[in-house]
Amino acid sequence: MTSRRTRDRLVDRLIAKGISNPRVLDAIANTPRHLFVDEALASRAYEDAALPIGYQQTISQPFIVATMTEALLAGVEKHTRILEIGTGCGYQTMVLAQLVNLVYSIERIGPLQVAARDRLYDLKIRNVYIKHGDGFAGWPENGPYTGILVTAAPKAVPEELYEQLAVGGAMVLPEGDKNVQRLITIRRTANNYERSEGEWVNFVPMLSGKV
Ligand code: SAH
Repeated sequence: MTSRRTRDRLVDRLIAKGISNPRVLDAIANTPRHLFVDEALASRAYEDAALPIGYQQTISQPFIVATMTEALLAGVEKHTRILEIGTGCGYQTMVLAQLVNLVYSIERIGPLQVAARDRLYDLKIRNVYIKHGDGFAGWPENGPYTGILVTAAPKAVPEELYEQLAVGGAMVLPEGDKNVQRLITIRRTANNYERSEGEWVNFVPMLSGKV
């Protein structure tokens, strides 16, 4: 159930759905998703589906993780540091950690932040910093970021995040109301922000404050 073959089947499914960046596919193939969910759900870990992780949150669907990661990498010459908002169990964090130098990630639910930090440490991921905080403020001390990826849905792009995006960088996030959002990509050019809209998605809402 956790074998290389099972993981490769997931990758084949992602290719069939249109994911083509080999680095993204490799990162997904190398990420043991069964270690990011409860043992009772481990047998379903390589299905292309979102699964519950407690606290009314979910581990994202692999296709969505791949789609957002591809969008984040596309058109950015070299990513040096990424800011992720919504660590959850840390699955997307580990995918990113294999593709860029440094990942900073923020989670508002304390026990999820601690569990994700410990899990990634056990998996020998050493280029990730995870803090317990409210992603609406971003993490200005370490910015600007060549990439910002938000894995919970705000109603509108949080203002603070625009400033923390480096020139030449990209921000990818679901934007909209509960249950129906659109994937948005924002690219920062020398004197502008360019916005493009992608597919319809369904993320948990981005909420203020930490708990
Ligand atoms: N990236 C995860 C998906 C996590 S679900 C994965 O790979 O599967 C979204 C997460 O965003 C939840 O854990 C939720 O608690 C968190 N979140 C929601 N609003 C937030 C905020 N304002 N700041 C930080 N995290 C937030």
